Amino acid sequence: MTIDLHTHSTASDGTVPPAAIPALAREAGLEVVALTDHDTLAGLAAAGRAAREAGVEFVPGVEISCRIDEVEVHLLGYFVDPGHRPLTDELELIRLDRSNRAVRMVHRCREFGADITIEQVRAIAGTAAIGRPHVAAALVAAGVVAQPAEAFTDRWIGDGGRADVPKHVLTAERAIGLVRAAGGAAVLAHPRSFKRRAEVTDAQFAELVVAGLAGIEVDHPEHEPTVRSALRHLATELGVLATGSSDFHGDRKPVRLGEFTTPREVLAALRAAQVAAGSAA
Ligand code: AMP
Ligand code: ZN
Ligand code: FE
Ligand code: FE
Repeated sequence: MTIDLHTHSTASDGTVPPAAIPALAREAGLEVVALTDHDTLAGLAAAGRAAREAGVEFVPGVEISCRIDEVEVHLLGYFVDPGHRPLTDELELIRLDRSNRAVRMVHRCREFGADITIEQVRAIAGTAAIGRPHVAAALVAAGVVAQPAEAFTDRWIGDGGRADVPKHVLTAERAIGLVRAAGGAAVLAHPRSFKRRAEVTDAQFAELVVAGLAGIEVDHPEHEPTVRSALRHLATELGVLATGSSDFHGDRKPVRLGEFTTPREVLAALRAAQVAAGSAA
């Protein structure tokens, strides 16, 4: 069974509509696919329906922006109840902040000579939760940079870059608590990505496990093989699951759907963790 547990659609910063993800997953030879858009559950219903039509098993998910101390991390929440108000309210706050932050980032870009507008960035984002990839696309359209990757540098909107504005986000502990209260299972996404400024340390992982973390995303395109084996070892030591996924973003990233996958027994254990969390809440 081939399982990809981390993908993005046009509901956040992917380029494929939610309803088109399951058919693509099937073409890629996957039997199970999760949709995990940034800070929104908006694509889940459409993707779930399309999955039934395509004969692909669907795992509903979300990738929540949060932080450990002042460093941003991403928490994957699987099988969350889309009607759980504390979770949906918090996601709405994050999206509101994303929208305000985009205005400020555009302002800073303009101060550094980039002729882009917030209207243009909003048009690129459409109904999606607005993010830096949309600002990057506007910078490309304006001829400021040749490629989106060039926008993610210190010159522009890379982490801590001169035009970057950090998100105001909840702590990872609180995000884990919300996922569990919403009946879901929490997995920390790409914790040692080479794109990150700071790694999530072993000690920080131990604290997250106390807070209820069910798994670590071990196999990911931004983890080198040595990082993967260290994380796999750590997951075993901490008694949590090791997942794998592509973090597919359509045309926005070079990775293929299904390039990294999760073993069947790990998905089964995630499901069991979800049930346990749901009944404890
Ligand atoms: P945001 O959530 O608005 O802070 O934007 C983060 C998104 O930008 C994530 O989907 C990242 O994968 C993407 N991103 C971060 N760094 C890069 C990069 N160097 N090239 C392309 N996309 C990136
Ligand atoms: Zn993304
Ligand atoms: Fe992420
Ligand atoms: Fe992601």
